[in-house]
Parts: sequence; C-alpha cells; structure tokens
Amino acid sequence: MTNLEAFDEACKFIAGGVNSPVRAFSNVQSHPLFIAKGKGAFITDIENKTYIDYVQSWGPLLFGHCDKKIQKACKNALKNGSSFGAPTLLETELAKLILENFPHLSKIRFVNSGTEATMSAIRLARAFTKKNKILKFEGCYHGHSDSLLVSAGSGASTFNTPSSLGVLNEFAQQTLVATYNDIESVKILFENHKDIACVIIEPIAGNMGLVPAKQKFLEELAKLCKENQTLLIFDEVMSGFRASFLGSFGINQIKADIVTFGKVIGGGLPAAAFASRDEIMNLLSPKGGVYQAGTLSGNPLAMAAGIASITQAKNDPKLFIRLEKLAKKLSKGMKSLAKERGIPLKTRYVGSMFGYFFTDKKVRNYQDALKSDLSLFAKFHAKMLENGIYLAPSQFETSFICSKMNQETLALTLEAVNKSFKSL
Ligand SMILES: *Cc1c(COP(=O)(O)O)cnc(C)c1O
Repeated sequence: MTNLEAFDEACKFIAGGVNSPVRAFSNVQSHPLFIAKGKGAFITDIENKTYIDYVQSWGPLLFGHCDKKIQKACKNALKNGSSFGAPTLLETELAKLILENFPHLSKIRFVNSGTEATMSAIRLARAFTKKNKILKFEGCYHGHSDSLLVSAGSGASTFNTPSSLGVLNEFAQQTLVATYNDIESVKILFENHKDIACVIIEPIAGNMGLVPAKQKFLEELAKLCKENQTLLIFDEVMSGFRASFLGSFGINQIKADIVTFGKVIGGGLPAAAFASRDEIMNLLSPKGGVYQAGTLSGNPLAMAAGIASITQAKNDPKLFIRLEKLAKKLSKGMKSLAKERGIPLKTRYVGSMFGYFFTDKKVRNYQDALKSDLSLFAKFHAKMLENGIYLAPSQFETSFICSKMNQETLALTLEAVNKSFKSL
C-alpha cells in the first residue's frame, strides 16, 4: 500500500484521516507518510523509504526510536500488568527523579497529556488566587482546552476571540492575550485587569517555530506576577528535559509558581505532569477542593518509560552539550547554504531544539514568525522529504535532535539541504 492509499483509507474511518491535525500535512499541501517503524534517528514508512527524523514524535524521543533502555523498562513493566488504577512504586520514583532538580517544586501530579497538565494548572491557579482571568501569549500553544484556544483581538481594548469553533465567547473573554517578548503588552493588561489569576507562557516557545524568550523579559514577567499576586505558570511540556536537562530553569534559573511537563517525561508513552509548592498543590483533591483525576494517570508503562528516559539523561551530564553542538552545526550549516543561494533564512537552537524561518527579519514573536515565506517552506519541506529528511510539516514547529544523531547524520542532512536549496 502507498502512503496516499493508506491516507485515503484512513480518511474513510478517522476524522480527517489523522488523530492530531498537524499530522495531515495540510500546511504543506501534501499528505502524510504512514510510518511502519523507527530506529534511533531514522523512521521508515510503509513504502519502505527511510528518513532521518527531526520530528521525534514532536519532542518526546530524546533518545530516538526504540531506545534499548526504554524498551526494556516498558517490557519489564508490561510483564506485571499494564494498568491498575491504584498506586505503584513507579509513580513515586519518577516524581522524585523530576522534583529533585527543582528547589521550588515540592509536589507533582501526573496526567496523560500536556493539555491536561496546563488545564489543571490553570484551575489550580484560579482556586489559589480566587481570581478569574488568565493571561497567555500570542503564538504559544498549551494544548486544546477551552480557555487556551483564544487569539488576540486587534488592540488591547478589544475582546479576544476563540481560535476554535465550539469555544464560547464567554470563555475567550476570560483569557487575555499579550505579545511574546514584549513586557509593555503585559503591563497594559495588568493595568486594565485586576483579576488575573495566572500568566501562562512557554519560556522557550516551540509552537510558533522556535522563539526563546529573552531572559530580561522573563525576569520582568516574574516580577510583575509577584507584584500583582498572580501565579506564573511555565509550560515546559516541550522544553522540559529538552532545552537543557532542567529545561528553561537550567538556562535562566527563573522560578515559576507552577511548572507543567510532558513529552520527554513519558519517554514516548503518554505522560505529562504539573508541579508546584505544597501550599498550592495541597488544594488538589483529595486533600483540597480542586478536582482533578485520571483513569490512566501515572500509568505504569508510561512511568517506566519516563524513568528510563530521565535516568539516562541524568546519568550523562555531557548529553545536552553534545546535542547542542549538533544543533549549532545544523543551524550554521543551513544558514551558510542559504546565504550562498540568497535564500532568506533565520535559524535558532537551544539545547536539543532547533528552528528555522524563511525570512530575513528577526523573529521575536508570533507576528514576526508569520512574516515567513510559507510557500518557500512548503517547497523546501517537499524537497527535503525527497532527499530523505523528515521535517515537521509546518513552518511554526520546532525540530528535535535525538541522542542517536551524530556528525554523520548532520552531514547527510546538510547535503540534503544543499540539494533542496539548489532546486528551490
Ligand atoms: C505539546 C505541548 C502541549 C500539549 O501537550 P499534549 O500532550 O499534546 O496535549 C502543551 N504545551 C506545550 C508547550 C506543548 O509543546
């Protein structure tokens, strides 16, 4: 069966043919590859073509596909049963492995997806502060719960609007939207709204392409939150154990009130979490009045994969230095190839995260990112696939380096970039 036949068949039974929209490749006017298997840095589709994979399941696979230690941990867990709906020792073990790194986080709770983690963090913030509104940043993605599917209105005085059908205007009006890396836009909102329960932000944004926040901006944001008795939520679902071992905290040491994790902490299985200090986490049911639950939360297979993933990262203190060197090499290589051919390109990297925009202007926020040449991106994406490189099928995504990549992987990638640029 070809990829296209598989997609046609899937479309008969699955809404849109996919279980998460970006997978459909509609941003690059194409159709998805159906993946048969992966190994380390590579994936193979059902047409038996192999690609170097820079999607890495959208971030979780820090150690690439079929990592031996993660596989073994899952197999061992599976022997004992796949789910109990009762506590296991694995949950406490992963909780310790995560919390021991963060002096400002004393309790954690595991959920199944990043969406649940941010949704629960916001509920907790509203309960703790007894305030209603939340503030997010344009271009940051925090999952698909109602309060977070909101776009900015035009100008600070106008109401925000739902970015999805089915989200109530009444919900959207409780969510304020500021401009990333622009502290003035936050100040104005704080001046006009006294009841902001929390500010939620990706401290290293990876969902508008890779756009790290400036250290000074985050410091001022933390200060503003404190002055206004507003909780600061760092959504590190993507950047946690990815941008550095400690995520953004490892880079700028800024302590948010609540931190959400996901992706890498599940090692490729569904797990995410939110963590905070005791006085806040004690509000959660069963101790407190904030309800939050999950049939499969803390699932033993996911916990085992997470433990194997975090333990490996912890035991290899040079891991992120090595991954960042590869990211830097990719960044510099792409840039100089683009320059040779007069192609406008901006690149960024942080730890094992890598991003590029087809523009010659600085990208500091979502509006800047939107100025990228999307048709050039789509052409580049298609050429790279032809040349054996699997990139995220959208300009507004981040690429991921995994531990199984090396100089050879990079050389092959840059050769493909060169060929692709040549034929653009
Ligand atoms: C992926 C992501 C989410 C959503 O996580 P899901 O597991 O897909 O629900 C939330 N926040 C950030 C920053 C993410 O990258």
